[in-house]
Amino acid sequence: MLRPSSASRDVQLADFTTLRLGGPARAFVRASTDDELIAAVRAADDAGEPLLILGGGSNLVVSDDGYDGTVVQVATRGISRDAGPGELTVAAGEDWDAVVARTVAEHLAGLECLSGIPGLAGATPIQNVGAYGQEVADTITAVRVYDRVTRAVLTKPADQCGFGYRTSVFKHDQAHRFVVLGVTFRLAAQTRSMPVRYAELAAALGVAPGEQADSTEVRSAVIELRQRKGMVIDPADPDTRSAGSFFLNPIVDPATLARVEAAAQATYGPDTTVPRFPAGDGQVKIPAAWLIERAGFTKGYSQGDGARISTKHTLALVNSGSATTAAVLALAREIRDGVHATFGVTLAPEPVLVNAKL
Ligand SMILES: Cc1cc2nc3c(=O)[nH]c(=O)nc-3n(C[C@H](O)[C@H](O)[C@H](O)COP(=O)(O)OP(=O)(O)OC[C@H]3O[C@@H](n4cnc5c(N)ncnc54)[C@H](O)[C@@H]3O)c2cc1C
Repeated sequence: MLRPSSASRDVQLADFTTLRLGGPARAFVRASTDDELIAAVRAADDAGEPLLILGGGSNLVVSDDGYDGTVVQVATRGISRDAGPGELTVAAGEDWDAVVARTVAEHLAGLECLSGIPGLAGATPIQNVGAYGQEVADTITAVRVYDRVTRAVLTKPADQCGFGYRTSVFKHDQAHRFVVLGVTFRLAAQTRSMPVRYAELAAALGVAPGEQADSTEVRSAVIELRQRKGMVIDPADPDTRSAGSFFLNPIVDPATLARVEAAAQATYGPDTTVPRFPAGDGQVKIPAAWLIERAGFTKGYSQGDGARISTKHTLALVNSGSATTAAVLALAREIRDGVHATFGVTLAPEPVLVNAKL
């Protein structure tokens, strides 16, 4: 049974999101053990109650009207190294960056480039969290979940998780069938990092792309690069009051790329080339930040309603203190429509929109 103190009806979700936005939850439960988490989910499902699983709130855009259902905050703890050599099993409620810091300190390589990402470990498989050339799909071996359809706990091997660029079966399933209870990673027992793939990071470390470096130095370099972009939560830095990157980098076919390049050259001259990265199947990924900037939206851009583009990173939309969710979404729509009018490409949001849409 849930203790009465762990359930509440007077919670503003703004207090639980990194955007510091979101209206009230109809009911709010904090679950500190797997049993509490499963019981809270079952109780909501039995009552036919809408359910939102809340981690660190760093990938959520919640309506100003709040959420007309039960919010279950994941607060489970526990890290074990019993699964096998180099294997680490982490409870969903563990702070992600603390997990990364611990692996680096214990000479386990494979997560070092994912330093400084906010949120909880249980959310990392949801959108296959990634940065600076690593993603959790590289090291996850299994995800333990509660299945809301069969009402059973099961372990999904990585090959059943449907990991892709910022997605997985967990994010794809709009019914939010699976509640993540724990994640197992297989890491390499070494002080050196995995090969550094990301050119900007390699340059910061003074190594060639593909070379290894000391994992502690990789972690420090990643955090420093992220801080410069306002991508490490810091109450003293208003540019970090965001949900991280607001748009996914679009993946396009060669014909679309040619159209984008032609549109860019018409405005910026015949020598303009569109940056691109291979995305498999002959497709390429175009940096959304490049499209947004070339469509005329500069860092710091705002309509004066408290919502603005970060002054450090074009992809992050920021609540400067007085914004509403409606203002952030209006800014996102303006950017999406401006990019579409300029390049014919429709940007899709990366965060999960709760009781809200673009
Ligand atoms: C400043 C900043 C920088 C960021 N940088 C990056 C980055 O570099 N790379 C990157 O990939 N992301 C980044 N993000 C996005 C975000 O941090 C990640 O997506 C993170 O994994 C979200 O974790 P969370 O615990 O905050 O999840 P929440 O925002 O609370 O939830 C996100 C989604 O996951 C679901 N969810 C959460 N926990 C569970 C669970 N246990 N079981 C089932 N569903 C669950 C929620 O219902 C929701 O749908 C950044 C965000 C910010 C604010």
